Amino acid sequence: MKACVNHPDKEAFSICHNCGKDYCELCLDKGIEFYYCKNRECRAQLKKELLRSGLPENVKCPNCQTELELLEDERISGKVHCPVCEAFIDFKMSPPKVINSDNYVELLSSFNAGDIGLIKSILEDANIDYYVFGEQFLNIYPAIQPARFYINENQLAETKTLLKDFELRIWGASTNQLEKK
Ligand SMILES: [Zn+2]
Ligand SMILES: [Zn+2]
Ligand SMILES: [Zn+2]
Repeated sequence: MKACVNHPDKEAFSICHNCGKDYCELCLDKGIEFYYCKNRECRAQLKKELLRSGLPENVKCPNCQTELELLEDERISGKVHCPVCEAFIDFKMSPPKVINSDNYVELLSSFNAGDIGLIKSILEDANIDYYVFGEQFLNIYPAIQPARFYINENQLAETKTLLKDFELRIWGASTNQLEKK
């Protein structure tokens, strides 16, 4: 068997499309077509692949018609926050879904991909209406910009109760935010 270059005891799952080395599943991130390893240059190629299939650099806000310059994360995730009308727009839906941000409150943020996955599953299990921004960004530039969770204000109290047990596990920054609101 071919072994992962990082884990000699693990069978290689695929090669990195950029450097061509063999890696196990843990050591790879999936682009649209190809897998990439976590080396800096290879991550940069992953980002390029994701950007190619994402949104253009500029889009019009479907809510207020302002021309918006998108962040890379917004282009990749298709989820955009319009700073002019404060709407959340999900361009992955067709037509793009516009959500009035007045009804949503930023509750917490996290740099930890594992925590983000857990928070999402807790919210989804409880049928909480939420929005998460910056999730994709984290795969490409870890620890530069956190993923931010916005919760429907009608479910804010419920969500806080749900996440109480979770508080200990998330970073100081996120815990502070939980207490502030
Ligand atoms: Zn690579
Ligand atoms: Zn590996
Ligand atoms: Zn707008």
